[in-house]
Amino acid sequence: MESAQQLDGLYVPALYDDLYNKDNTFKALKAKPGLPHRVKRASVTDLSRFRTRSTIMTPHTTFDRTFLIEVSRGCPHGCRFCAAGYVYRPPRFRPPGDLADCIREEKLSAAKIGLVGAAVSDLPGLEALCSTISGDGTEVSFSSLRADALTDGLLTQLKQNRVKTATIAPDAGSERMRVCINKGLSEKDILNAASKLVAAGIPNLKLYFMIGLPFETMQDIDAIIALCKNIKRAFLESSREKGRMGQITVSLSPFVPKPHTPFQWAPMEKVPVLKKKIKRIKQALGNVPNLTVQADVPRWAYIQALFSRGDRRVADILLAGRDHQWNWAKTFKSSDIDPDFYVHRRRDELEVFPWDFIDHGIRKSFLLTEYKKAQKGKRTRECNPDTCSLCGACPPPSQP
Ligand code: SF4
Repeated sequence: MESAQQLDGLYVPALYDDLYNKDNTFKALKAKPGLPHRVKRASVTDLSRFRTRSTIMTPHTTFDRTFLIEVSRGCPHGCRFCAAGYVYRPPRFRPPGDLADCIREEKLSAAKIGLVGAAVSDLPGLEALCSTISGDGTEVSFSSLRADALTDGLLTQLKQNRVKTATIAPDAGSERMRVCINKGLSEKDILNAASKLVAAGIPNLKLYFMIGLPFETMQDIDAIIALCKNIKRAFLESSREKGRMGQITVSLSPFVPKPHTPFQWAPMEKVPVLKKKIKRIKQALGNVPNLTVQADVPRWAYIQALFSRGDRRVADILLAGRDHQWNWAKTFKSSDIDPDFYVHRRRDELEVFPWDFIDHGIRKSFLLTEYKKAQKGKRTRECNPDTCSLCGACPPPSQP
């Protein structure tokens, strides 16, 4: 109890009671006397104080001989669907010198260095860091790169590191939809990136898209198809010069609304509609040579959405799931709780959310404004923690 009173970031569920309205919506989380009503997130301002990197190297993991090092936390781009982009605000980067020292000390045990972060391509000094690593004969890999960040130097690094597949995440097919999600990538950026990657000798391309985004129409789905065909064309032209054609993999994920994001008010798209959208894309791209389409299962996205935005009562569904050996059809049938209430309901602007008690420093009113801007097709600028206090996560700039 004392620790929960004194330490930021400590939440003891048993010391808080959940209350509900007559219409089943969440009313409040009532703290026992002496406890804070909102639990403040614990956050590190200066990342160089703690090195977060692989501590055990073993062949018995997915990354076996790759030494992973976290280069940044948060992301400055503000994509409206992305939980990591909001809950880890403000964006912070490790000083390149600190990263180089850490890598120098550790890399004897690793064949490859993996740079991890939501915004790896925004890391100041990334190119220089990569050439330090690869100059010593060690490979480097990235968790993801933005299409508009592929400089010549970075492409050289990808080539030197024998990268065979590069991933680009347009996330949506139409310009309208990319503005809606605040992606900040134009079709030109995406096509340029595809051409540049092939020209740099990286044969395969993976493209990530979401379907079922808020305010999405069938025209936006058709725009995914058109964009993939345009990317294939750009890919083909660059490949001709190289004399070989790689593979394009289009990956489709149903959108799941997440807490603490501007889309936390949005309903998730219905499973049959998601299936229809996937089918439409697969049919349209099915005969395109050297291109394959993969899609996540909409029913799994539904389960994810249920547990992403459920309240404490949803724990009963989890227990029932265990009792029914994770047969979800049987589980839902046996439960009094309606999962659609959590997954498909459009939430009222004033609704209290079960996660509102976690204080990430971001104003809920800011998230709502972002949701409304998405609907109106308006962009929000990228983070600049030196001058900005827009969302509340950074202290106000000091007056001269
Ligand atoms: S206050 Fe501004 S710079 Fe800081 S996290 Fe929020 S939007 Fe980004």
